[in-house]
Amino acid sequence: MIERLRVSDREIADAVAAVEDDMLDLLARLVEAPTTVGNEELGQEIIELAYRDLLGLEPIEIAMDADALRAHPLASPFSWDVSGKRNVVADWPAVGSGGHSLVLNGHIDVVGPASEKLWRTPPFRAVRDGDWLYGRGSGDMKAGLAAIVGAVLGLRRLGLAPLAPVQLQSVVEEECGGNGALQCVLSGLRPDAAVITEPFPGFIPTSQLGVLWFHVDVAGTPAHVAYAQDGFNAIEASFPIVEELHALEAELNEAPPPPFDVLAHPINLNVGVVSGGDWPSTVAAECTLSCRIAHYPGTPVAELQRLVEDAVERAAAASAYLTEHPPLVRYDGLSCEGSLVADDEPIVQAVSQAWEAVAGSPAVTGPTTATTDARAFIASGVPAVCIGPHAERIHGVDERVFVASVVQTAQVLALLVRDWCGLA
Ligand SMILES: [Zn+2]
Repeated sequence: MIERLRVSDREIADAVAAVEDDMLDLLARLVEAPTTVGNEELGQEIIELAYRDLLGLEPIEIAMDADALRAHPLASPFSWDVSGKRNVVADWPAVGSGGHSLVLNGHIDVVGPASEKLWRTPPFRAVRDGDWLYGRGSGDMKAGLAAIVGAVLGLRRLGLAPLAPVQLQSVVEEECGGNGALQCVLSGLRPDAAVITEPFPGFIPTSQLGVLWFHVDVAGTPAHVAYAQDGFNAIEASFPIVEELHALEAELNEAPPPPFDVLAHPINLNVGVVSGGDWPSTVAAECTLSCRIAHYPGTPVAELQRLVEDAVERAAAASAYLTEHPPLVRYDGLSCEGSLVADDEPIVQAVSQAWEAVAGSPAVTGPTTATTDARAFIASGVPAVCIGPHAERIHGVDERVFVASVVQTAQVLALLVRDWCGLA
């Protein structure tokens, strides 16, 4: 039997700190790959090389399987083509027994720049300025992916290997539905825990909201604006729908159940994209609102869908035209229930202690108003938590990550591998 080695905190922290340049170099290359949804492969190739050349592990691809996903109750609906898309994973095999297995997961996809001209530096350039690294995806969450690689590299440079299998995962489509992580879960691996290095420094989100994307198609009647009374403007007709949806949002925020009752405004409705019309002098024939809303754990997605459809119907009822031509609510993209992990789950304790060993105080637990890929693992019976670097302005402009926190996250992960999996 191979003995579990006791390697000191200091020895591990130093070994990880020694590979800082490798981590930051990887992070910069990842940021400069514009891996918006549909373009994830640009980053997956970089990750594949890092797993193979830096870590000496064999990358494996877990291809997106549209049929398998569409048949799965946890999948988000999607209208786009996923053929040719893949998650990239690598197994770090166990050299003994007696430890707990672990998945270390991050998503390679990023959201768009929001408004390129508002950025101080080009969004897909990794720009170091003092203690910060700027760029879209720097914090959400390429720093997390780089920290995973840094943790394993540091431990391997010490000649160490885990006593239970560790799988590294770089997944696609987190930002639009979570089907990449779900595809990894569908591969059948059931680790003892999963850790996702989303940018939650010192905070373990043990309760996360469910999130629903929905699209409202409003149809109007086009006409020359000179005879506007002959037409019906679909864009203007969408304004009262937005108001009704915000009324629903207000209602959902009235009496949040615990643990969300500590937050002032847990449920956020966002009208993220509006498209419609085709000419300033033509009464708009069409308008589509693409929105995101959230709900509390325990609410089935179907119930939130009904609330959304009721709100749209209420708005339509105030218009004779819309009563006759009801707007259509479609679901495409992110769709999930909220999920919970118990505070006394061993992985929560282990992550919190590893954080404390590096940062000086334990990570705290609590609710988040977002959702993460943790839910796919949790739903399959695998306790999953997030912990990660300190980032600012994610999904905003001038997104940045605090460089020291990338190293710190990698140190935390390396200590976690020691304590959770065991090392030999
Ligand atoms: Zn993220």
